[in-house]
Amino acid sequence: MMRSPRAAPVTPAKSGVQGYGDERHSLGPGFRRDDDKKQRRNAALFLFAAAATLLLCAAPAEIFAAPRKKARKAAESGAGEAAEFARYAKRVKELSRSHQRVQLDEKPVLEILQLNGVLGSAAERTGTGTGFRPFQVRVYSGLYRWPLRAGIVSSEFGRRWGRRHEGLDLAADAGVPVLAAAAGTVLYAGGGLRGYGNVVILRHDQKTTTLYAHNQALLVQPGQHVAAGEQIATLGSTGHSTGPHVHFEYRVRNRAVDPRKKLIANRYWRKA
Ligand SMILES: [Zn+2]
Repeated sequence: MMRSPRAAPVTPAKSGVQGYGDERHSLGPGFRRDDDKKQRRNAALFLFAAAATLLLCAAPAEIFAAPRKKARKAAESGAGEAAEFARYAKRVKELSRSHQRVQLDEKPVLEILQLNGVLGSAAERTGTGTGFRPFQVRVYSGLYRWPLRAGIVSSEFGRRWGRRHEGLDLAADAGVPVLAAAAGTVLYAGGGLRGYGNVVILRHDQKTTTLYAHNQALLVQPGQHVAAGEQIATLGSTGHSTGPHVHFEYRVRNRAVDPRKKLIANRYWRKA
């Protein structure tokens, strides 16, 4: 086969995510229209050979790691995470293309926070709202964990391309679990925030919230209580996004803070 293993992604395209090898399935114009039997048999042979090559060349990590992964899972809980990270580390370049280049306007997020009484002082309120609403937890004192089991930081918090980036972008495979960074209550779960795709906002205490954007599917409802580490969504590429990743924000009242300042240091995570 002519295909070089380098040209194919390590993970087989299974979710139809844009830019992840869709072009491989195209056989070229006029291929199917040929009625000649020989041609059809050749096509079948070609397809079989192509599929076999792809399986062997493109996804050895996926196929051959599965039994080992299971054994490791049983042995130690952290080992599965390490294996998952090792898999992502091999694909840093591919995953780091998941930079979300469109600036997300934080206005709809602030509106949600205001409606739910997270923005405390009058100066922080920009329009009509319900104002301050006390939350059952005054100050959340627990740890904040990373919202994915493993992944690559594809974009840091702060300025990029001359614009502000209010969160941290964590790239991984589409469909992996997105986890609550800390215990809290679901303030928002839906697709109504322009650019953010399917988004979840959690409230952790009087003034602290976290946000998880671009999800594939949402698994929680507004008002629901979630535990730290509980799955709230599956990772996706909805809204203004160029590849599967979660855009993660940590906010104190209306101000976005670098999530790295709150998340526990983890050697599995690094800048792409
Ligand atoms: Zn982002």
